[in-house]
Amino acid sequence: MENNKQKQINEAEQALLHVYNRFSLVLDHGAGVYLYDTDGKKYLDFASGIAVMAFGYGNKEYNDALKAQIDKLIHTSNLYYNVPTAAAAAALKKASGMDRVFFTNSGAEAIEGAIKAAKKYAYTRDGHAGHEIIAMNQSFHGRTIGALSVTGNEHYRESFEPLMPGVKYADYNNLESVKAAFTERTCAVIMETVQGEGGIYPAKQEFLEGVRSLCDEHGALLILDEIQCGMGRTGNMFAWQGYGVKPDIMACAKALGCGVPVGAFVMNENVAQKSLAPGDHGTTYGGNPLVGAAVTKVLEMMERDNIPAHVREVGAYLAKRLDELVARHDCLTARRGVGLMQGVACTKKVGEISAKALEHGLVVITAGSDVLRFVPPLVIEKAHVDEMIEKLEACL
Ligand SMILES: *Cc1c(COP(=O)(O)O)cnc(C)c1O
Repeated sequence: MENNKQKQINEAEQALLHVYNRFSLVLDHGAGVYLYDTDGKKYLDFASGIAVMAFGYGNKEYNDALKAQIDKLIHTSNLYYNVPTAAAAAALKKASGMDRVFFTNSGAEAIEGAIKAAKKYAYTRDGHAGHEIIAMNQSFHGRTIGALSVTGNEHYRESFEPLMPGVKYADYNNLESVKAAFTERTCAVIMETVQGEGGIYPAKQEFLEGVRSLCDEHGALLILDEIQCGMGRTGNMFAWQGYGVKPDIMACAKALGCGVPVGAFVMNENVAQKSLAPGDHGTTYGGNPLVGAAVTKVLEMMERDNIPAHVREVGAYLAKRLDELVARHDCLTARRGVGLMQGVACTKKVGEISAKALEHGLVVITAGSDVLRFVPPLVIEKAHVDEMIEKLEACL
């Protein structure tokens, strides 16, 4: 058995570009909130493929919708119309109260589109290019050149410089620093509503409101990255809805398709009218019928099953159990988060804890260098939280 697993790992390592230090785990299938490796070992999943699998694994209704669409039409092109993609866009409009959707293939690509829309909006208004974007330190927006240019992590950016020019960095949850970064050339502020990779930091109410006001004063657009914190994870469909602060452009991905690669940038009508026009943007795959069927089904299930309300309830319980855990262990120093997006700061090596958790049948990931991150499927129950706490405690 062990030999077989090593063989599978070696095969992968010989062919795949080595850009991940992967855990020595070969996953085979999933059922509900559990994953199984190729040896049949069972794992409670508190990572959900990095905040993707909101409904867990093997959801029959979702799988059936995708299978039916596969047999009908997987892909055509954006040169034509198709029904699932239009339905998906309408559902996303309804869930967000925003107006226009462009489907992408990933989160990073949604960020790229949001940046282009903001630049084009300012270009159309001012009649010239050369605009600036304010981004946050400790942010994460993706790995492509544009998204990397607004990612506030030197380590990710350094070797790829020069990146997109005209990006200024401010400190998250520090309104004065955002204010100081504004110039007459600023066309947008981009930020996560809850910082994910940076260590699970929710925006403070007054910060988000303050940034919104600064944007309005300067005629700049507010771009909220909801890729990780959106889609019900914080107990609202989109995290900004919990603040009552609406962005001009929002980026989605991760749980948007619950496993099929899809993202979106969504904007208000005013921005849509004055930014990207025919010829300005496109993608071959983006929003094809297969992912359209997935997004439509995901949004239907989220609303019908009132997933945000379930997240508020189980999320409060997870927060309480984590608070108790922090109180019991000196190596755990703080808990932060909203709903089912929680982080616990830890003085021990978090990578080692996640590796050890696997031995105990628990999948848990890290955020930054010192935070344990809890982003389980949104359908977990309190009993799963108890099971997770028990397994995690065994690793501490
Ligand atoms: C994951 C993530 C991205 C990048 O999404 P990809 O699909 O990996 O390109 C961007 N922003 C945030 C907040 C994310 O969590």
